[in-house]
Amino acid sequence: MPATPPVRIVPLGGLGEVGMNCLALEDGPDRVVIDCGLLFPGAEAQLGVEVIAPDLHFLRAGDEPKAVLLTHAHEDHIGGLPWLLRAFPDVPIFGTRYTLAVVKEKLAEHGRSANLREIAPRSQLLAGGIGFEPLQVPHSIPDAVGYALRTSAGTVVHTGDFKIDWSPIDGRLLDVRRFSELGAEGVACLLSDSTNAEREGTSTSEREVGESLARIFTGPLARGRIAVAMFGSNVHRVQSVMKAALGAGRKICLLGRSMTQSVRLSLAMGFLNCPLDLFIDPETADHFAPRELVILCTGAQGEARAGLSRLALGEHPNIRLEKDDLVILSARNIPGSERSVATLIDNLVRRGCRVLEPGSTNELVHTSGHASQGELRMMIDLLQPKSFVPVHGEFRMLTAHARLAQSAGVALQGCHAIEDGDVVELREGALATRSGERVPVGRIYLDGRGAESGVGESLLRDRQLLADTGVLICLCVLDRKTGELIRPPELLGKGIAGLDEARAAQAIAAAIEAFAELGYKERTDRGSVEEALRRGVRSCWKKGSEKKPMVMPVVVEL
Ligand SMILES: [Zn+2]
Ligand SMILES: [Zn+2]
Repeated sequence: MPATPPVRIVPLGGLGEVGMNCLALEDGPDRVVIDCGLLFPGAEAQLGVEVIAPDLHFLRAGDEPKAVLLTHAHEDHIGGLPWLLRAFPDVPIFGTRYTLAVVKEKLAEHGRSANLREIAPRSQLLAGGIGFEPLQVPHSIPDAVGYALRTSAGTVVHTGDFKIDWSPIDGRLLDVRRFSELGAEGVACLLSDSTNAEREGTSTSEREVGESLARIFTGPLARGRIAVAMFGSNVHRVQSVMKAALGAGRKICLLGRSMTQSVRLSLAMGFLNCPLDLFIDPETADHFAPRELVILCTGAQGEARAGLSRLALGEHPNIRLEKDDLVILSARNIPGSERSVATLIDNLVRRGCRVLEPGSTNELVHTSGHASQGELRMMIDLLQPKSFVPVHGEFRMLTAHARLAQSAGVALQGCHAIEDGDVVELREGALATRSGERVPVGRIYLDGRGAESGVGESLLRDRQLLADTGVLICLCVLDRKTGELIRPPELLGKGIAGLDEARAAQAIAAAIEAFAELGYKERTDRGSVEEALRRGVRSCWKKGSEKKPMVMPVVVEL
């Protein structure tokens, strides 16, 4: 009798970076995909990349997944769906009510619809032969879940993004009972959120941020307008701002598309509760005294076109920030955004504003939506998994999390800090093993949210080179019959350092010399002529420590 094939866990994104989370689980002929997110570019942003999606070659090469299971509606978990749907337009996408509502809006922006299936925690569902159950977890967005997957090799639990908040704003606690029941039944493998695996202790409750905001809103710094900048998706925090505004007798003015969208959706679905007359239009903001206003906006990372950056530059027609106004940056500084945040703060301070950011005040203006070591340890203790694969994090976070699992009693041989493309196999009753196989993974660089065509790696390399060195165009006109140059080549430079007349003459002479070395046959071959011109021109930059420019030969044949 042939042995049953192992269950395979295949991360396609999010292991080795924070972002573009996507993971496939295969059990015989059935496969499910957990999340399909985006990554926001760091240095690539300067090269015209707006978003990065995971390369889904691996999925496309196989059968259609039986299901896509969504953990929550953050962009790093759902943003890649339009690209997944291009390959599998009919695949059933499971998610909770709020998650699917956000997904529906995002897909509509891409002109897409999908086969969306709403699910609730504790329901028992099937995707082919794989059973799955959503598990309620607290996170910095409403309606987040993890999943228990019933495979032929035992139960696999994926936590999704989570923290353990004992007094969450929405009262939605970690489903400790289900997690401990699963632990008692036996968990073959746990995949758990590693974002804060390097942080000791436990994360602070979102409720404490709410209490801090309420104190600040009625405290000595609240002399003028108050602007709070944060992610629109942090609906719990938005609720806290609303409560603090009500308590301080202020109205709220929303700025920024993602903030307005998120608040509208959350109010309509009952995830936000407040009197509707709390809100005023930005157009009427100047009818109110500064002390009557809270501006709730996007742009805590210094994003160029977001609400707060426009206010900092005085670009809003009806709202001006000025002396005595208070600005609260209620978000974590995402690595890579430090420079733009510093510029933003400088611009605000120039206007006379007081700026509070995490760490700059004793008040708590932000807390993470991810579990610290104490909570991660509790998750491992509740489930007591045989094997462990840390997910969602840079490699050092994954490694720290694997170490934590070992200290919690998971066998060393069953702990696998793996990265995108590495495959872990699971057999019934045995520890998980690395298969040693690498599946194709990578990043798709996209020009914009609506862009359907990817920007390839080589295009990015060219853009980087152009930025580093500039470009030299070497134009020459060739007599097709004789294979002679009709006139000397011309040089046009853009962004080239040290290109004076002498250097240009030298480069032209070198190009002519390289051309002269070609035989008649080569001169009638455009590729050979171009290569000679390139070689000739570049030879003038050879000596010394200068960077060689990118040279583009243009050959016109007459
Ligand atoms: Zn998240
Ligand atoms: Zn995430």
